Amino acid sequence: MKIADLEFEPFIDADNIQKRINMLALELNADYAGRTPVFIGVLNGSFMFFADLLKQITLPCETTFTKLASYYGGLSSSRSVREDVELHTNITGRDVIVVEDIVDTGNTLSYFINKIKMHGPASVTVCSLLLKPAALEATIEELKYVGFEIDNEFVVGYGLDYKELGRNVNGIYRLVSS
Ligand code: 5GP
Repeated sequence: MKIADLEFEPFIDADNIQKRINMLALELNADYAGRTPVFIGVLNGSFMFFADLLKQITLPCETTFTKLASYYGGLSSSRSVREDVELHTNITGRDVIVVEDIVDTGNTLSYFINKIKMHGPASVTVCSLLLKPAALEATIEELKYVGFEIDNEFVVGYGLDYKELGRNVNGIYRLVSS
């Protein structure tokens, strides 16, 4: 599949994504039983994952979004995080679950976790669909729920973009190495 100037190949199909999401939701439903967590989706990339995950959450819960960017449409992290949408939900004393599309260096997540902690939540955990363990620059202890661990390669689809394209693709594709 061609997106802009690059070629991508099938990597994780829609069926497998849904199966893994069902497992993550089961874990979250069990771990947070009796509580009313606040799910924070990190836009843009997490919108599909967030929707599919939340459909399987049976807990009473609140949902809200923030918008962070570090890749700016390219192939690698810029290392500076830009916050485009501020969090307006009051999370003081709440159990917060951050929903991410992918954790690469971990810079975006570390930045956001530090911000959240300044508001005094009861707890913070992170649920990310994808993780690139080899790219991670520091351990993030809040990262408790991971859909798939992948190699250090560039992926698109299911919310993830290349040059803002490919977010609508149903399934995850990876860059064909030349
Ligand atoms: P980090 O701060 O962990 O290096 O980067 C996290 C953000 O970079 C993700 O939320 C995502 O927007 C973007 N990103 C990291 N790896 C990929 C990738 O393989 N493909 C795409 N499309 N975006 C990525």
